Amino acid sequence: MRNKIVAGNWKMNKSLAEAQSLTAEIIGMVADEVKGNVKVVLCTPFPYLHPVKSQLGNNDRIAVGAQNCSEHESGAYTGETSAAMLASMNIPYVIIGHSERRQYFGEDGALLATKVDKALAHGLTPIFCCGEPLEIREAGTHEALVTKQVAESLFHLSAVALQKVVIAYEPVWAIGTGKTASSQQAQDMHALIRKHLASKYGAVAENISILYGGSVKADNAKELFACADVDGGLVGGASLKSREFVEIVKAI
Ligand code: PEP
Repeated sequence: MRNKIVAGNWKMNKSLAEAQSLTAEIIGMVADEVKGNVKVVLCTPFPYLHPVKSQLGNNDRIAVGAQNCSEHESGAYTGETSAAMLASMNIPYVIIGHSERRQYFGEDGALLATKVDKALAHGLTPIFCCGEPLEIREAGTHEALVTKQVAESLFHLSAVALQKVVIAYEPVWAIGTGKTASSQQAQDMHALIRKHLASKYGAVAENISILYGGSVKADNAKELFACADVDGGLVGGASLKSREFVEIVKAI
């Protein structure tokens, strides 16, 4: 059975005090209102990982995640954070290849493959993002692009390693725009990604959680999460408001 995951990507938002209030609210609501076996992940800015993790204590429903890690092991890379450092803090998840990293920091498939390797080598679960920009969707070449993104950063992995990866399909045209993919568009792409994984890894593809991201809100989450191949969400803007985020968690 695949894990159901709702991950919030806080991006570069909130002061420490605001981050701690948000965490406290989410802890309270998840404990009271969320039933079942759903993992909630809070992907905070680097400086808040430790305080938020401390606040969570040994909460077994909510985990903390980073938004990026270095492709290097250690050394003279000023401003970078390694997977080894995250592992030393017991951070279980790291987002890799978010479209904002691809777009603003020039991260390409080969580099992301290295980051995935680093994360896995240190026991972290990578949340690997893929997705097409608007012009690619309009040109009708989105399937080719997304399968290429998956192959170039993940297909070097063994089947055992792949099973430790979570994939997030995030159409770039839906991120932060208020435009959500329809549930049919999401299901079609998730099924395509799973079929693509199966072409290389066979039945293992059935075990991989594939999250949808792109303007997920409390009022569209239920329909998206009801799709057979959608195993949860990666949530940006709506993860910054506790009530909205927990409504999304409840939708799964
Ligand atoms: C994201 O940043 O991963 C994201 C999906 O953002 P939003 O939910 O705001 O579209």
